[in-house]
Amino acid sequence: MADTGTAPPLLTARGLGRTYRRDGGDVIALHDVDLDVHAGSLVIVRGRSGSGKTTLLNLLGGLDDPTTGSVRLDGEPVSDMDEAARSDMRRTKIGFVFQAFGLLPILSAAENVEIPMRLVRADPAARRARAAELLEHVELGARARHRPDELSGGEQQRVAIARALANRPRLLIADEPTGQLDSRTGSEIISLLVSLVHGDGIGAIVATHDPAPLELADRVIELDDGRIVSDDRR
Ligand code: ADP
Ligand code: MG
Repeated sequence: MADTGTAPPLLTARGLGRTYRRDGGDVIALHDVDLDVHAGSLVIVRGRSGSGKTTLLNLLGGLDDPTTGSVRLDGEPVSDMDEAARSDMRRTKIGFVFQAFGLLPILSAAENVEIPMRLVRADPAARRARAAELLEHVELGARARHRPDELSGGEQQRVAIARALANRPRLLIADEPTGQLDSRTGSEIISLLVSLVHGDGIGAIVATHDPAPLELADRVIELDDGRIVSDDRR
């Protein structure tokens, strides 16, 4: 489902660049990237290893500061916020999913999903109810009390996705969420993300080097050497 054409984009990046300064010489990891992500649409970022995908996602999510350019989420200038405002924005408006799942090993699936809600001091009963609902949503209701080492890779990533959705984010950012999964499980994870995006009207940006799920995306951009070299809107 593409955007309606009239609503302003959820996320806007303009002239985005990032140079890592090192003793041995500067690395231009990202150069002059313009990108919009609309609510209810999924953008896939492709590119070989080292092409700048993680750098881009970190800037879009306010995890890192751009060297040039700006990022706005919901009209607010992410790149100009102080760290406290940015951290608040990340907790409430963005859900992050990473390649290595990032679940806490001593906590159950449900307790992992509750973590972001603890950070915003949600009421404990509401927190538990929301975690149960989210695990049902990712078809893991029966695994709520399992610890991560008692779950398959695909199941762990579904828990991580449920956790990312805990505070009802406007934007989901997933950095190679299928990188540790076999291709079939990876496709299932991308399909789940697509159904969440289209069903809940959130925007998503997903970095991947998997060719398989591209047809599910609303837009596919390809990075090479920190620049957008192709941009395919569906
Ligand atoms: P990808 O996620 O597509 O593999 P990255 O965004 O991680 O690419 O990296 C892009 C480029 O920036 C690479 O050349 C990488 O070596 C470099 N780079 C990434 N992080 C740093 C850093 N902290 N310091 C210096 N160079 C970095
Ligand atoms: Mg990366």
